[in-house]
Amino acid sequence: MLKLENLSASYQTLYGDVDVVKNVSFEIYENEIFGIAGESGCGKTTLLKALYDIVVYPLVIKGGRVVLSGVKDGKPFEYQTGNIRKAWWNNISYIPQAAQSVLNPITRLKNQFLDSITPENGAKEDKAQTLKRVEDYLVELDLSPDVLNAFPFQLSGGMRQRAIIALATFMSPSVILADEPTTALDVVVQRGILMMLTRLQRQNKNTLVIVSHDMGVHYQIADRIGIMYSGSFVELGKTADIFEDPVHPYTIMLIGALPRIGDTRRKTGIPGRPPDLKNPPPGCRFAPRCPHAFERCTKEVPAFIEVMPGRFAACHLLENGGRVNG
Ligand code: SF4
Repeated sequence: MLKLENLSASYQTLYGDVDVVKNVSFEIYENEIFGIAGESGCGKTTLLKALYDIVVYPLVIKGGRVVLSGVKDGKPFEYQTGNIRKAWWNNISYIPQAAQSVLNPITRLKNQFLDSITPENGAKEDKAQTLKRVEDYLVELDLSPDVLNAFPFQLSGGMRQRAIIALATFMSPSVILADEPTTALDVVVQRGILMMLTRLQRQNKNTLVIVSHDMGVHYQIADRIGIMYSGSFVELGKTADIFEDPVHPYTIMLIGALPRIGDTRRKTGIPGRPPDLKNPPPGCRFAPRCPHAFERCTKEVPAFIEVMPGRFAACHLLENGGRVNG
């Protein structure tokens, strides 16, 4: 469905290029919820922008490509970096970070839906028919059609987020990209949004890619997750397996730091800070914080390899069937 081949993306600054996504290769499948996790500033949002082909200077694609392919309404489609925007709305849609703020504050929601669902974007009926279908769709999502007559400021944050999700999913795109869709919402509303996204994905059997720094979000809904650190994936696999048995030192520390019911042991964070992307360390970028680092780690970038069926990781200790002890 979505294939990344050696994708690298950078921000061009006065002080030189800042490589935010570095040689990332992996596949996201049809009919799955794929979570992208990692600390703030690790490149999650930039990666999502590259997947959506929303690459605006100073962000540039330095190498590699994204291929979006599949079958919709019986017709095969294929787009790649440079022309994915032709597939926006109909084949792929995007729920941006702070989505509640992207709505035009002085336009009623009805007009914002009609401005987006156009023949150019794949709508097959006139505006009155589209509006009727939007109303029916909102009811299906347990939203009152009355919201269409509201201005965004008249709705709560949770309602605005639900409206954005309704807009992004209305055309039943094959892929939906969601960037921190529950950030800034209280826990009850968060749960409702996650349930809405999961229900839509299970119903439409499409692909949902969700970026979140909150591991709890991934635990609740993602089928597979990729853990990013400093611009690359360090571990990727089935969510349940990674939470049960993480293999990369960073993932081990990340999951070990999560609170669990009944676990009274003192939790400690990961010492140190992620590296400055303007001047990252040579070799493994996690080496300055890794308790298992050895000389080779400071010189050689570990390859992202399949360390067991369906599980990928980038650590020298995991080569040739090795494990990280302790
Ligand atoms: Fe730690 Fe070395 Fe593995 Fe990097 S390659 S995670 S520094 S042991």
